[in-house]
Amino acid sequence: MGIIVQKFGGSSVADVEKIKNVARRVVATKLAGSSVVVVVSALGDTTDELVELARQISAKPPEREMDMLLATGEQQSVALLAMAIFELGHEAISFTGYQVGIVTDDSHTKARIVDVKSERIMQALASGKICIVAGFQGVTVDNDITTLGRGGSDTTAVALAAGLNADKCEIYTDVEGVFTADPRIVPEASLVPEITYEEMLEMASSGAKVLQLRSVEYARNHNVVMQVRSSFTDSEGTVVKEEDEGMERPIISGVTHNTSEGKITIYGVPDRPGIAAKVFKPLAAANINVDMIVQNVSYKGYTDISFTLDLDDIPRALSIIEDLVREFGAQGHDLDKDIAKISIVGAGMKSHPGVAAEMFDVLAENSINIQMISTSPIRISCVIDEVNIATAVRALHEHFQLSEEAVTDEAL
Ligand code: ADP
Ligand code: ASP
Ligand code: MG
Repeated sequence: MGIIVQKFGGSSVADVEKIKNVARRVVATKLAGSSVVVVVSALGDTTDELVELARQISAKPPEREMDMLLATGEQQSVALLAMAIFELGHEAISFTGYQVGIVTDDSHTKARIVDVKSERIMQALASGKICIVAGFQGVTVDNDITTLGRGGSDTTAVALAAGLNADKCEIYTDVEGVFTADPRIVPEASLVPEITYEEMLEMASSGAKVLQLRSVEYARNHNVVMQVRSSFTDSEGTVVKEEDEGMERPIISGVTHNTSEGKITIYGVPDRPGIAAKVFKPLAAANINVDMIVQNVSYKGYTDISFTLDLDDIPRALSIIEDLVREFGAQGHDLDKDIAKISIVGAGMKSHPGVAAEMFDVLAENSINIQMISTSPIRISCVIDEVNIATAVRALHEHFQLSEEAVTDEAL
């Protein structure tokens, strides 16, 4: 019997009725003849509420304790879903990450999966049970509980699909799939039926939070085909997979945005070899991901360095930067939390020069100032003021005609 992994996000299990809906969907899959492994997130906004609770106690809670706290969200939802399945007359068994052996490194709050043990799940499936696994959590070799970063249940699902050699990995959420922009900002955005790992990686890393970036990396590395679909309809959604001959090749696949980053600038840094390394090494050692970096042209032997990073990492980054400013004798530093990043992503960009200029033109027409720019072969990103983000997303979505259909080579 083939194995199907189905992951249900927080909004799909936000209340009792929704948990019962998930139970019905899971049982229907089982009755259709598959062994089912379900991965669930914490109910609704539980994780946000736990983060807020911790924040009221400490501005910088120890990360190990944060993981102990956050992992409880998913422990509630697996048990509740198992109960709902029993109510429908079917057998289920819930597991924490620890119990099934989702082994991670010890980078608390953003741990990486290093091994997935499949024995416990295989035994339960063999006895006819539906397995329900807590998403987002794992355990170190020293038996400490870890979490995989926000949105990490997607990665749990992909890792299980790879480890169990599953036939399918379905990611159920509150939208019908991956769209050309966040449907909350652009209601007329179109569904993308198929997307390559390469483009999905860029979309996820630039803010399309429908899939956690690491889940797409893991899927690409282990060749797991992901299907993103709605918990509330029967639409086929979006398939994320390796590029193949039959796939449409749009120039622009989507417009993404990210409002959860801030920008730190260090002013008047002596411009000499080794300074950039001195800034970014301690940040890396503290497991802080730096996104964009801009170093200004040097003036009289001094320069400014700006970089963007997750808002969550700012308190830890600031204490490192304050020490460095003292050590370098730099002029000072500044924090801007009200920035946003807007990106356009599309594999067709590689062969179509001029897309960046068009993007800058659209932003200029809307009087939006660009603070930083970065590119990859298939993505262009600009940092702008956060207040302008919705206007920027809508204007670019319209300019590249993404509502009608993906812009293909033939259309230009
Ligand atoms: P879940 O709780 O199921 O994991 P998430 O909130 O993590 O769901 O992700 C789904 C949300 O991602 C959607 O509600 C949507 O607002 C947002 N989103 C952002 N960009 C996109 C996009 N390009 N396509 C689809 N959804 C997107
Ligand atoms: N509950 C976790 C979060 O809110 C994990 C997830 O939903 O994937 O980030
Ligand atoms: Mg999610």
